[in-house]
Amino acid sequence: MTHQALRALPSVDRLVNQAQLHINDQLPRDELVRIARAVLHNVRTTANGEPPPALEELVAVVVAQAEQLLQPSLRPVINASGVVIQTNLGRAPLSAGALAAMQAVAQGYSNLEYDLAAGERGSRYDHLGAVLARLTGAEAALAVNNNAAAVLLVLACFCTGKEVLVSRGQAVEIGGGFRIPDVLRQSGARLVEVGTTNRTYARDYAEAITADTAAILTVHRSNFKIVGFTHEPHELELRHLAHEASLLWIDDWGSGSLLRSERYGLAAEDTIQDRVAAGCDIVCFSGDKLLGGPQSGLIVGGAELIARLRKHPLLRALRVDKLTLAALEATLLSYVRSRADQELPVWQMISATTDALQARAQAFATQLAEAGHSVEVLASESTVGGGSLPGETLPSVAVALPGPPAALHARLRQGSPAVVGRILENRLLLDFRTVLPEQATALLQAVRSALGQGLPTP
Ligand SMILES: *Cc1c(COP(=O)(O)O)cnc(C)c1O
Repeated sequence: MTHQALRALPSVDRLVNQAQLHINDQLPRDELVRIARAVLHNVRTTANGEPPPALEELVAVVVAQAEQLLQPSLRPVINASGVVIQTNLGRAPLSAGALAAMQAVAQGYSNLEYDLAAGERGSRYDHLGAVLARLTGAEAALAVNNNAAAVLLVLACFCTGKEVLVSRGQAVEIGGGFRIPDVLRQSGARLVEVGTTNRTYARDYAEAITADTAAILTVHRSNFKIVGFTHEPHELELRHLAHEASLLWIDDWGSGSLLRSERYGLAAEDTIQDRVAAGCDIVCFSGDKLLGGPQSGLIVGGAELIARLRKHPLLRALRVDKLTLAALEATLLSYVRSRADQELPVWQMISATTDALQARAQAFATQLAEAGHSVEVLASESTVGGGSLPGETLPSVAVALPGPPAALHARLRQGSPAVVGRILENRLLLDFRTVLPEQATALLQAVRSALGQGLPTP
């Protein structure tokens, strides 16, 4: 930029004064000064020979940056993708009960580590044990930060310096950096792979047992299926093997449902209760997949084993906070009252009938039509997702929006509230199975606003 052009740039003061009018004093002047300085610096160093931007343009840039600074980076999204448990979108939405419990515990003090009856120090791990044990049939239970932490803690506690037998078909990657061989290495245990990718027999485990073997680890196939020429040992064989050789049977049962998925039109899969009954000494699972609670990792098993985990130094680094405990306990109480599928959003979504979804999608389409946008209501397929029930789909109902799908999707994602849909056969679909009923009005507004700006060109 020439010397003359540089001089034509407004002063920082002038820029800040103008910008302040637009953002209504929501930011202290110092912050605006920092933004204005950076904007002017950028103009000086990047423009080559062009005339300087007009004052209004510079003010607009400063205001836009100030507004961005004021907007939280983490914000709500309407999930119209049809994937019920979407890790990228925060997995399970919480129930009204869980939200109320979090608020009650968050806004004041709580008995997090205080025994109210005795008037002395208590443990945060005392709050959930009994209810989790009751629901799963295990003797005792423990909650940690997430399931990856649960598996790491269990291996570090019982298997460091020892061998752990894992079927080749289960030495898997779950996603987000969770790979069974890596977690084993981190825990200080040695992985011994047994069998083959598709067929592993009880004798494969039996032949691999040495004086150094501490455990058999079985892993839920959360995100893939093996079909065709396959074999796995029966649960009774594994139980027998582990007990004969005094090994622990540790089970990473990922999605960890307490409800029978086949009652909801999904493939039959062992529940946590089934895994405990099958004889697993320890079962680890996520709190925010099919359980429908907050991010957490749950460990259920024998009382002595859980007592040892509670004493392990790593537990302190993996501990859950009071908000998680509050939400988790409220979520579990929905199961105790046998109201999980009516109260927990994940199960409300899974159990919604296509008739109900059709009615909601139709009402939405009618409202859009009244606003002058013609959309089509059509049958679609939702998935459970989130490393839960691989390949399982549920019939669903979607609204197909008119116009170039990618550009419209980009606009919806960046709207307020943000909306994430699904593009199929060159159309943008909004799947109603994963839209919470109370989000209907907000979704309508977001879509009207996106379509109202005129259709984007592809
Ligand atoms: C999802 C999953 C994990 C990781 O659980 P996080 O709660 O995400 O840490 C580990 N193992 C299996 C089998 C899973 O499905």
